[in-house]
Amino acid sequence: MGEIFTVTAVTDPSRGTRGISSFVVTKPTTDREVAARIGFGHSDDLAFVDGVRAGKKEDKMGWRASDTRELFLEDAYVPEGHRLGEEGQGFVNFMRTLDAGRIGIAALSLGLSEGAFEVALRYSNEREQFGQKLREFQPVQFRLSDMATDIEAGRHLTYHAAWLKERGEPFTKEAVMAKLFCSELAMRATLQAIQLMGGAGYTSDYPVERMARDAKICEIGEGTNEIQRILIGRQIVKEAFGD
Ligand SMILES: Cc1cc2nc3c(=O)[nH]c(=O)nc-3n(C[C@H](O)[C@H](O)[C@H](O)COP(=O)(O)OP(=O)(O)OC[C@H]3O[C@@H](n4cnc5c(N)ncnc54)[C@H](O)[C@@H]3O)c2cc1C
Repeated sequence: MGEIFTVTAVTDPSRGTRGISSFVVTKPTTDREVAARIGFGHSDDLAFVDGVRAGKKEDKMGWRASDTRELFLEDAYVPEGHRLGEEGQGFVNFMRTLDAGRIGIAALSLGLSEGAFEVALRYSNEREQFGQKLREFQPVQFRLSDMATDIEAGRHLTYHAAWLKERGEPFTKEAVMAKLFCSELAMRATLQAIQLMGGAGYTSDYPVERMARDAKICEIGEGTNEIQRILIGRQIVKEAFGD
């Protein structure tokens, strides 16, 4: 369960997005003994903020190894010393964080896609039907071919966005494109893997059904894919017409 959070708050309502600031807030360590033993939790010099509380653990479709909860701030007084960066820069900071985070979601989606592909490929060499291995059927090879091509395209988008970021060049649009393409790729690839494996793919004997459930959040987190399409569209129009 999380203990240190970055949140934004409106600090000057008259300044729109320039009136938002970022803050670090903390909640008490649940089990200080365990925290000390495994080295997590926040140090005592980062004061606990009264009124910060986590809600119930969400029962999610996927990503079940990760604990997700609502965060409540009730009459929480956050001292100025907890401000992260300049006053009024919270929105800009969060947008920057999202840019980089989208490359992370693209990479995560790519990993899921590659994992599903590998499981399906291995299975196609194990399972025999009508006296042949699955991999010998042409429709199975077509499916593997589509998956591999899709994954290669996603890999190029993701690596290109990461390369731009590493060189210190603008990468916002490329990161959004990589996140959009790869998160949808992860849905396609995991569902393709299930289909290729037939009934076995639908069971928890193999990890591909879990991968499909995990993939779905990538279309939602770091901004839904509807928002990604809006961002790409705006950028295209701005580049072409300057507005
Ligand atoms: C497992 C999990 C972990 C998360 N972790 C974090 C985290 O660590 N930090 C964090 O800040 N958030 C986190 N989130 C929240 C996540 O970022 C949001 O769920 C996500 O950005 C979508 O926002 P929403 O749920 O409010 O959906 P909504 O904004 O309510 O959207 C609902 C639907 O309406 C559409 N929609 C909304 N606005 C528009 C628009 N302007 N134009 C077109 N369509 C629109 C959306 O695309 C979507 O289809 C997490 C969520 C989950 C499920």
